[in-house]
Amino acid sequence: MEKVIRRFPVDFSQQEYRDEYADLLNTLVVEADIQIVDYKLYRLLLLHIPNSIGPHRTLLLKAEINQQLIELCRRLLAIYANKVQLHDNKERDLLTRLPNRQSFDMRLFQVCEYFHEHHLSDLVQDKGSWIAMLDIDHFKTVNDSFGHLYGDEVLLHFSQIMEKSFRYNDFLFRFGGEEFVVILNLVDMASARDVFERFRETIAQFKFPTVGQITVSIGVTHIDSHALPASLLDHADKALYHTKGSGRNQVVFYEDVDIETPVNDDSDIELF
Ligand code: GH3
Ligand code: MG
Ligand code: MG
Repeated sequence: MEKVIRRFPVDFSQQEYRDEYADLLNTLVVEADIQIVDYKLYRLLLLHIPNSIGPHRTLLLKAEINQQLIELCRRLLAIYANKVQLHDNKERDLLTRLPNRQSFDMRLFQVCEYFHEHHLSDLVQDKGSWIAMLDIDHFKTVNDSFGHLYGDEVLLHFSQIMEKSFRYNDFLFRFGGEEFVVILNLVDMASARDVFERFRETIAQFKFPTVGQITVSIGVTHIDSHALPASLLDHADKALYHTKGSGRNQVVFYEDVDIETPVNDDSDIELF
């Protein structure tokens, strides 16, 4: 199985990123916190941060490697690993290991600030960022029919499919319960539509162990340069609410629909 490799810290303003070490990281067998690895023309010092909550982090150091450097790195690594652990405890969800609601709030604020400062085009045909609320359909029925443990397993698989489906510079969160958020970066509206449609389809096709098939509803909105975090969430939520009222298992863009029009009320909407 191929590993999901994300660079950190993640930088959503970076257009193209090719990780020249992807091959190495994919075949890597971690044997110790500090390893010397020969790769292509280089001799690298590989520092590994084991972590029970977040993803595993690896630092690659290109340098003249000697015993003194290794000792220094060993000491720095201990301090750094400790900081990472504290950070993850606070900002990651224990079940899925995704960043939690608190880190979402901070990140959305940061993204909005970026767009305030960088006067990028607000045209949806141009490359920009999108915020999507993803809500698993009829999840209560999953819990009621199979029990909470299987419900939790669905959430775990769902988050793993998210990690595989989105790019290294997109931001993924567990918003709470069976709700997730994606901030999709540097794509135009047509590509955003493709990406979310593909994800929706992947979920609909996936055979979840024991539970079988589930579907997801997705509400999306564009992050423009004068957007406020609260109104963005409100718009994504309204688009999501629209899919819940029109059959679920769909991707709806706030920009596409006349949100004020009452949705078809023949399905079992619950107000939230
Ligand atoms: P809809 O299609 O309208 O979204 O229906 P729904 O049943 O998914 O929505 P509702 O909001 O009624 O129910 C969400 C359920 O998610 C209720 C709760 O039991 C369950 N849930 C929330 N957090 C967790 C969790 O961490 N683990 C499990 N197993 N279930 C959870
Ligand atoms: Mg919900
Ligand atoms: Mg739901």
